[in-house]
Amino acid sequence: MELTLADFRAAHDVVRRHLPPTPLWNYPLLDRETGAEVLVKHENTQPVGAFKVRGGLTLLDAMSAADRSRGTVTWSTGNHAQSVAYASNLHGAPCTVVMPAHASPARAAAVESWGGRVVLTGDTLEEAQRHAEKLAAETGARVVSPGDTPELLAGVGTLYLEILDRRPDLDAIVVPVGSGTGAAAACLVAAALAPGCAVIGVQSAASPAAHDSWRAGDLLSRPSRSTVAGLATGRGYDLPQRLMRGRLADFLLVTDDQIAEARRLLASAAHTLAEGAGAAAMAAVCSRPDLFAGRSVAVVCTGGNADRSELDTLIDRRDGAA
Ligand SMILES: *Cc1c(COP(=O)(O)O)cnc(C)c1O
Repeated sequence: MELTLADFRAAHDVVRRHLPPTPLWNYPLLDRETGAEVLVKHENTQPVGAFKVRGGLTLLDAMSAADRSRGTVTWSTGNHAQSVAYASNLHGAPCTVVMPAHASPARAAAVESWGGRVVLTGDTLEEAQRHAEKLAAETGARVVSPGDTPELLAGVGTLYLEILDRRPDLDAIVVPVGSGTGAAAACLVAAALAPGCAVIGVQSAASPAAHDSWRAGDLLSRPSRSTVAGLATGRGYDLPQRLMRGRLADFLLVTDDQIAEARRLLASAAHTLAEGAGAAAMAAVCSRPDLFAGRSVAVVCTGGNADRSELDTLIDRRDGAA
């Protein structure tokens, strides 16, 4: 399976029927902070609050009417779940999301608000996956893997078309990585449209499975201790890792504290509410002036679904602010 530019263009035709292009804004205060020309791609403005909605729309559109009527079953703790629920709702297709029992009630409520059915079970995402596969076997619904589904990758790639159609001269795009679908799609789109633009991944140092897998050229499991939802994956996913191999220019790690600092910077300098994963690219650009100063860089603000603890830490109480 190799996605071509034509696949991404076709996915964009689908996505554009439902969603306008998201803004790509420059903020002088961010430029001053980083010494770079920074362009923020605002996927936090999507109706589900994250870029993944592009994948859900593309997947549901590609299914036959018969498959859609049997619906989908997937597993997720976060934005992937909302994406599939949102797209299923548009098509009147049933959608079940299995989440670990400890998943945040707010995230379950968001899925239900789009008409999705939530099943809470087990302690881990791996257990949720097994339960999802069992439900699918019983009902004939399609099992949707968050990381290894080509339609999702084609869909999320449309955001890189929007960036590079406007700015093919960019030096780099920095992409937060969990499973790697976004970064893999970015690599393919950049290779076709802007071969001079480096795609750089970033993950939390506390959950380095995708980073370590890419460096090793192998699918590795790693402890996942990051509190940043979306980046906190425990293993490398096959499809995105294969696509990132030899195409991703670099893969950086940042700490959860650097991500929190970048969330505060986006709030104060770009009036943007980012969740942790949505601020990781900004954190990477702030932490590496050796790589980015003097360059034109797009940072993808992948999502704005900040949870309660992320809202609490938007104010840095260490410096006495209350
Ligand atoms: C899922 C997600 C990511 C990671 O994307 P992958 O395609 O899994 O690498 C980053 N940011 C946000 C907000 C997400 O929801």
